[in-house]
Amino acid sequence: MKTFCGRANPTTGSMEWLEEGEDYDYHQEIARSRYADMLHDKDRNVKYYQGIRAAVSRVKERGEKAIVLDIGTGTGLLSMMAASAGADFCYAVEVFKPMANAAVKIVEKNGFSDKIKVINKHSTEVTVGPDGDMQCRANILVTELFDTELIGEGALPTYEHAHKYLVQEGCEAVPHRATVYVQLVESKRMWSWKKLFPVHVEAEDGEKILVPPSEMENCPGVPSVCDIQLNQMPLSDFTTLSGVVTMFSVDFSKPVQSASTYYRVQLEPVKSGKAQIVLSWWDIDMDPSGMINCTMAPYWVKPTSALQWRDHWMQCVYFLPNEEPVLQGEKLYLTACRDEYSVWYNLQKAREGENKADEEHKADVCVESPVCRCRAHLLWNRARFGELNDQNRTHQYIKALRKVLKTDSVCLCISDGSLLPVLAHCLGAKQVQYFILFFRSWHFTNHLEDKIKIIETRPELLKPSHLEDKKISVLVGEPFFTTSLLPWHNLYFWYARTAVSTHLASNVTVLPQSASLHMMIVEFQDLWRIRSPCGICEGFDVQTMDDMIKDSLNFRESREAEPHPLWEYPCKSLSDPQEVLTFDFTKTVPQHCLSTEGSVKLLRKGKSHGAVLWMEYHLAADVSVSTGLMQMSNEKGICEWNPHCKQAVYFFSSVIESEILSEPTAVTYAINFDTKTGEIAMDFKL
Ligand code: SAH
Repeated sequence: MKTFCGRANPTTGSMEWLEEGEDYDYHQEIARSRYADMLHDKDRNVKYYQGIRAAVSRVKERGEKAIVLDIGTGTGLLSMMAASAGADFCYAVEVFKPMANAAVKIVEKNGFSDKIKVINKHSTEVTVGPDGDMQCRANILVTELFDTELIGEGALPTYEHAHKYLVQEGCEAVPHRATVYVQLVESKRMWSWKKLFPVHVEAEDGEKILVPPSEMENCPGVPSVCDIQLNQMPLSDFTTLSGVVTMFSVDFSKPVQSASTYYRVQLEPVKSGKAQIVLSWWDIDMDPSGMINCTMAPYWVKPTSALQWRDHWMQCVYFLPNEEPVLQGEKLYLTACRDEYSVWYNLQKAREGENKADEEHKADVCVESPVCRCRAHLLWNRARFGELNDQNRTHQYIKALRKVLKTDSVCLCISDGSLLPVLAHCLGAKQVQYFILFFRSWHFTNHLEDKIKIIETRPELLKPSHLEDKKISVLVGEPFFTTSLLPWHNLYFWYARTAVSTHLASNVTVLPQSASLHMMIVEFQDLWRIRSPCGICEGFDVQTMDDMIKDSLNFRESREAEPHPLWEYPCKSLSDPQEVLTFDFTKTVPQHCLSTEGSVKLLRKGKSHGAVLWMEYHLAADVSVSTGLMQMSNEKGICEWNPHCKQAVYFFSSVIESEILSEPTAVTYAINFDTKTGEIAMDFKL
C-alpha cells in the first residue's frame, strides 16, 4: 500500500507530497531505534541474565513450574535467557509488529520455539485462559520498559495491568525494584537551558541591558524531560548543593499504582548556593537482595567503578520552577511529583514552627505539571535557550550587525524567535521589520512595538504593503528555524531570501553573507555502538536483528546523515576539517545543483566510523560563527563541539581501520546539494 504524506520541506520551505510505502515508518523506526545500543549494553545484559537465573531458581526451589511473562520482548533476548535458565515456558509479548516478527525468527534460530511463544500484542490486550494468549498467569515477570526518566515509556500502567490480570500474586519480578536518586545543584550552564538571561549590548550611547519580560522570568517551563549524557558534563560546570538522596522506589513484584502521586524528602544542603537544578538517575536491583544492581549513576557518584556507556538510558536534568538561594545546613523539602509518564520537582523551605503534617498538606497543592505560560518554552528547546544565552555568540552577531547597520537602515530579519531584531534596534537601525514565519514571535521587552514590526506571513507572500513600500537595506538571519533537524536545514534562510528578492534594495547587505558546509572524518569513543551490528549477545544469535537494522538503513537509496549533539558524544578527528561547499546568500539560490568531489587525508591512527558535517556562517567580514567544531587539539585530535547545536553524523557502512599510517590513506567523497529538493546526498569511499 502507498500513502501520500504531506510535509513542509525543512530546507526549501515548500509543501511537498511524498509517496510512502507502508514500510516507510517502520524502516525509519528500526533504523533509528535503540535496539543495537541495548544489545551492546553488556552491563545491562549480564545483570538481567543473573537476575533471571536467580528468579527461575527461586521458583523452582518452591517446587513450582517457572512460567515467564516477558513484556516488550524486542529481540526475544530476555525470554531466551529465561528459557536457558530452565524456565518451563515463556510468553514473550511485543507490540511492534516488525520486532515481534524478528523475535519469532530469532527464537527459532536459537532453538527455543517450543519454550517461547511470541505474542504480537500490547500487554494490556493479552488474554489469559484455556483459549487465551496465555494458558495461565505467569509467576515470573520480566520486563525492560524503562527510559531515562524510568517511567516515560509507560512502565507503570503496564505493570499495574500485568499485576491485575497477567501474573500470579507473589510473583518474582526481574528487575525486582527501581530506585530514583536526586542531587540538588547550582549550574549556570544548565540553568541557561531553562531561562533567558539579560543580554548586555555595547551601543554607541553606552551599555544597554535587555531584560526578559516578567512572564518569562516566572514561567515554570515545560514538563518534557531533559535527558543528557551527564558523564560529559565537567565538574567545573556545576556545584553540588546536596549529597545523593533517594527520592522514591518502585517494587515491581507487588501491585503497582500508576495514578499521580508525589514523594517528598527532607534534605540539608552541604553547601550554600542557588538551588536551580535537580539531577536525577535511577538504578534497578535485579533481585530482592539488591546484590545484582545496574546503575545509571554519573561518574562522580562512584568514581572507582567502571562506567558502562549507553545511550538508551542516560540521566535527567530537572529545572526547579524558580532559583532558590539555600544555606548550608538549612532544612529543605524536595518534592517529586509524578503522573503516569513524567516527573517534576519542587523545593520548599521548612519554616520555623511548621511540622511535617503541615508541610505534607502543602505538597498536595503542587501536584500540577508545569505548563509554559510565556510561550518561549514552546518555541525554543533547551539547547536553543543555551544558544541565546551564549554571550560570546551574541557578541559575534553584535559585532557583525555593527559593521552593517546604518542609522537609516531598514532591516528585515528572517529567523524564528530571534533576538536579532532587538539587537539591531539597540544598535541604532531606524526601522527593523521583524519578519517571521507562522506564529513564532516573541518580544524581548514590551516597548518596541512601534519600532519592530512583526510580519506573520510566508516569505513568498510578502507584499510591499507589509514593508510600508520601503525597500530592505539589511537582511539578517542567524539563521535559526525550529523546523531544522540537520545543520543544512537552516539553508531555508537562502530560499526565503530568494523569495523576498523583489523587496530588497539594489545595494542590500545580507547577514550572514554566506555559509559553508564543513566535514571531518572521526573515530567515536562510543557513539559507533548505536549503528554497529551485535552478532552474538550473551550467547544468543541476534544477527537477524542486525540484518533488519541494515536493511532499514539501506531502505532509501542513499543513506542519510543523522543529527547528534556531539558535545555529548566524544570523538577523535582522524582528518583535518575541510570546507566542502559554500552557499552565497548575497545571490539567489541557483537552479543547478551544487556538487563537489575530493579526498580527505587521514592523519591519525584510528577507526573511521564516519564523517561529521556542520555549517559555519560568515556574518560579515572577519566575523564567523560555527555550529560545529569550535576547537581541536592537534596532536590527539580531541574535538570541542558547539554545545548548543546538533551536528550531522554520516556513519560509514563499513569501518575503515587505519592502524599504521605508513602509506598515506585518504577517504574520497562526493557531496551533492540538490537545490530543488534541498537535500544533501553523500558518498564516501576509502
Ligand atoms: N526486552 C528487549 C527489548 C526492550 S525494548 C531487551 O531487553 O533487549 C522495549 C520493547 O517493549 C519495545 O520493543 C517496545 O515495542 C515494547 N513494548 C513496550 N511496552 C509494551 C507493552 N506494554 N506491551 C508490549 N510491548 C511493549
